[in-house]
Amino acid sequence: MGPPGSGKGTLSALCVERFGWYQLSTGNLCRDHIQKNTDLGKQIKEAINKGELVNDHVIADMVKEWIVSQDTMPEAIIFDGYPRTKTQAELLYKLLQDVMVDSELVLIKLHVDADIIAERILSRVSCSNKKCQRVYSLMNNSQAKSKSLMICDDCKSPLKKRSDDTQDALKNRIQIYYNHEQEILNFYVNKGMNVGMINAAQTVQDVFNDFTKFAEHKDYVC
Ligand SMILES: [Zn+2]
Repeated sequence: MGPPGSGKGTLSALCVERFGWYQLSTGNLCRDHIQKNTDLGKQIKEAINKGELVNDHVIADMVKEWIVSQDTMPEAIIFDGYPRTKTQAELLYKLLQDVMVDSELVLIKLHVDADIIAERILSRVSCSNKKCQRVYSLMNNSQAKSKSLMICDDCKSPLKKRSDDTQDALKNRIQIYYNHEQEILNFYVNKGMNVGMINAAQTVQDVFNDFTKFAEHKDYVC
């Protein structure tokens, strides 16, 4: 768990690469179902067309269906950005008890102060070439900095800003995210689960090292 800009995607990609884990994206599952025009896909499309959020039960059904349709289970599944609400957390807990009896659900929280995340997001730029869209950072100490200022390394197209947010608006949104996250954490902690806390203000390598230690020893920080 972690807000946008906390590095969830980067950490997930490293776990897939180094450990061979599977990254389950509910967004990709949704797109799959829409494309295949399944019953769930139709319900998702309807919600999107109405400008509504996809129902929590529909998402849980989709995840359940994915799990039961696997011939062989990966060693670990990363739920990236899911659950997002307390209801989703409850439904995930129940469905894992139903269909993955021997599984263990482990919670990892990537924590970064709202002002650091706001700075990260506000300094993101992306390639204006629709076929490229590579993402860069304007931060001086970032590994994702482009070689020439505001020019894409790959295709030499100009880079453009990604967020129209102001620093205050963004910090506010991140704080709302954290309040929501707290509800989810409370639910799982009340179920007797521990939460691994990782300081995500560190470099990618340090975050990955902390995560690896955690995954090997279940050395809970909080
Ligand atoms: Zn480009």
